[in-house]
Amino acid sequence: MQVISFREPTLYRAKFILPLKEPLIEDGGIILAQGEVIRVGRWRELKKVFSGRRYDLGEVIVLPALVNVHTHLELSALKWRLIPSGSFVNWVRSLIRQRSEVSVEQTQKAAYKALQDMWKEGIGLVGEVGNTGITIGILHDGPMQAVFFREIIDFKGTSSLKDFLQHQHSSTKLLFSLAPHAPYTVSPLLLQAIKIWTKRYHLPFSIHVAESPEEVVFLQEGKGPLRLLLEERKQWNPRFRVPRLSPIGYLKHLGVLDRDTICVHTVHVSQNDLETLAEAQARPCLCPRSNTYLGVGLPPLDKMLDLGLKPCIGTDSLASNDKLSIFAEMETLHRFFPQIAPQILVKMATLWGAEALKRPQMGHLVPKAKAEILAVPVAAPKVDPYEQLVCMAPKNVIRIYG
Ligand SMILES: [Zn+2]
Repeated sequence: MQVISFREPTLYRAKFILPLKEPLIEDGGIILAQGEVIRVGRWRELKKVFSGRRYDLGEVIVLPALVNVHTHLELSALKWRLIPSGSFVNWVRSLIRQRSEVSVEQTQKAAYKALQDMWKEGIGLVGEVGNTGITIGILHDGPMQAVFFREIIDFKGTSSLKDFLQHQHSSTKLLFSLAPHAPYTVSPLLLQAIKIWTKRYHLPFSIHVAESPEEVVFLQEGKGPLRLLLEERKQWNPRFRVPRLSPIGYLKHLGVLDRDTICVHTVHVSQNDLETLAEAQARPCLCPRSNTYLGVGLPPLDKMLDLGLKPCIGTDSLASNDKLSIFAEMETLHRFFPQIAPQILVKMATLWGAEALKRPQMGHLVPKAKAEILAVPVAAPKVDPYEQLVCMAPKNVIRIYG
């Protein structure tokens, strides 16, 4: 991993620059100073007006640092410990069991390594979901921007929000928010209270939703393996009124869908559900490699885009993925949806992810953007640079800070 950083204002040259909010620039230049993008444009024009340091990056594609909207670093120690059995609920059972066998030290060590690996993979902003707070310190001292979502699991709804705010810590680098785990693990009242709290502070709200067929059965009929799991864990609430709605329909009914709501997974969704999401301008967060690992299906990305939705990408955790790489997630989406323009997949991995996490300075390279940039060697000079990025995860990612 090569890192390039100069204190003084610098004009960089690159074969391709992808500003994301503007069309790609061939033989481009970008001026970085004091942590921000100052200008971006054609090299031959910028070099006439800029008299400071120049640095030629050569035959590379320059793009903003990638955004991983959804992960759980605190589950990193479970890598390769959970065998997918074809049953989502059995995977949850073994997750609970295995987690209790991992020490705090093992959790911290694995989370630290996973964060470093994400940085090497070109990620510059992460949405971390945790229910212990163990990863807050690691994120705070780490090399990237983050939103820490304190995850809430309480289907009986006996706890109060105050119980979850004790690790609250926000800074320019790390934003604190709350996230209900899923519609089947948080009581409806608590779910609404969390939305009211995040709305009050203009924070993103994240929830796993429509991930498995079992979740659909539970919300439609109040039965099935998830009901059994809740009973097993003494979490079933006999006062729960089965909504008889789809997972997305249920979130709409509770009034928690809006443009600040990140719907993680959104695999089991009907056309009607997709229209509901589009109307609310909610943000689907796709984790295709985790979905494939668990065998729950894949989200209908093409239909989402047809309706004007702006999906983003997450890796989910190392309990259901072998790496936390947004390049790998783009590649998977490209394989399953070859009809979707690679440029859209790159937008999902950068601009739309930063928007979902409410970090407007990240995910693009126009003036005032954060100077956190990647340079990836051009693999095939004649191939569209967006296509190169989604076709193969690059071996060498150069990180540039202004
Ligand atoms: Zn997750």
